[in-house]
Amino acid sequence: MKFKLLIDGHLVDGVASLDVINPADGKVFAKCARANSEQLEEAISAARRSQPAWARLNHGERRAYIERLCDAIDSRHEEFARLLTREQGKPLQQARAEISGGMRRFRYYAALDCPAVVLRENETEQVIQYQSPLGILAAITPWNFPFSLLVSKIAPGLAAGNTIVAKPAPTTPLTTLLLGEIAAKILPPGVFNVIVDANDLGQQLTSHPDIAKISFTGSTETGRKVMQSAASTLKRLTLELGGNDAAIVLDDADVRDVARKVFDAAMLNAGQVCLAAKRVYVPTKMLDRFCDEVVALARDTVVGDGLDEATQMGPMQNRQQFEKVLQLIETAKTQGTVIAGGYALDRPGYFIAPTIVRALDDEADLVKSEQFGPVMPILSYDSLEDVIDRANATPFGLGATVWTSDYRRGVEVAKRLEVGTAWVNRHLDLAPDVPFGGAKQSGIGQENGIEGFKSVMQLKVLNVAKSGTP
Ligand code: ADP
Repeated sequence: MKFKLLIDGHLVDGVASLDVINPADGKVFAKCARANSEQLEEAISAARRSQPAWARLNHGERRAYIERLCDAIDSRHEEFARLLTREQGKPLQQARAEISGGMRRFRYYAALDCPAVVLRENETEQVIQYQSPLGILAAITPWNFPFSLLVSKIAPGLAAGNTIVAKPAPTTPLTTLLLGEIAAKILPPGVFNVIVDANDLGQQLTSHPDIAKISFTGSTETGRKVMQSAASTLKRLTLELGGNDAAIVLDDADVRDVARKVFDAAMLNAGQVCLAAKRVYVPTKMLDRFCDEVVALARDTVVGDGLDEATQMGPMQNRQQFEKVLQLIETAKTQGTVIAGGYALDRPGYFIAPTIVRALDDEADLVKSEQFGPVMPILSYDSLEDVIDRANATPFGLGATVWTSDYRRGVEVAKRLEVGTAWVNRHLDLAPDVPFGGAKQSGIGQENGIEGFKSVMQLKVLNVAKSGTP
């Protein structure tokens, strides 16, 4: 078998195999190793054995290892991108961008140092604050951005001196396994391990007493389960969960320009983005014009196999999500008016036409829940106060966008939104040095930036009275 688990530096077959489906045709295109409970246990043991030596390396030594890994991945960039498109479905251009973005993060963390801070140093005392690794991290990733979300977890984790057990989503394991295959030749055995399951090993991993921290990206529902499992040993947690991001178009916006940008913010990766624009609020007087623009964009979007360079939007990643989004569309037809799309494409694979729905009220399912698909509800508003309240009336708080010709007005609105990231006139700008995380039930903690680095380390204080000097 080509795609193997990585346990203790060895590429190994699983006790079973897993079929990997190309969502562009619904057919199995690869098989990979699937682990059982004993293999997960072996991976955790290997991570435990290798951790002290990895942690003892200095920053420069770990950096050298990680940069060699980055060079090796970069030399296979196109292979990664094509594999990502085949397992995930996204257009090649987006797959290439995901790999490049992930690699920027990898190199950012390889170079980042977190030096000790001397709080006091005088004749009688020395107090130093510094960061030490936590131990073993579990990196659990979803199927929408299998590569970049993995890197957001393992890059700071490895750079800080932790060892890793990674577990990709069962429908998109291959880019993670390819990374494991490359790491097997470069990193010391046990420092990075990859386990693939069929959604059956998550609990064992997240409740294991040897795991110090769980970095999880996925649904809010599964995030709650992870938090429960972690409670038994008070594990550290970073949870990046669902969102229901509002896009608020202000009355001074250039409708044509903003319609394009909001459409892209909603439809990237066929809407399978935790911080996609999921509810669009437009002033009543601009509503018809805005709808006309996005309907034209929806009709012009080239939907197809991501491997075709002309494709702008790929399929839903898996059958379950495909059916869920179609069901939401059926309900939306009874609660509002579909003005573009509204159907699955008549071809193999999990394709849904870009769909625009208007005339919904705030209680409609499509407005209240996270659609995670290419479906954009457009709502109208008359007062800014009212739209801010409506945008905030959700248990989610991942991101939001404000669109305006006067960015200063946009900033005033953005400040009042209860979210982890409020964008003004742009979206999805996720640079490695900018922390990203959710407010409210969209998550706990941050990834990226210094905050993402500190989240995989233990703050330690060395507090010394110099009275013991001989
Ligand atoms: P979805 O519901 O869209 O498939 P999930 O949030 O369930 O997304 O999946 C995200 C990741 O969490 C995947 O890697 C999945 O295998 C993993 N996972 C699923 N159930 C659990 C669990 N109980 N504990 C830990 N991880 C889990």
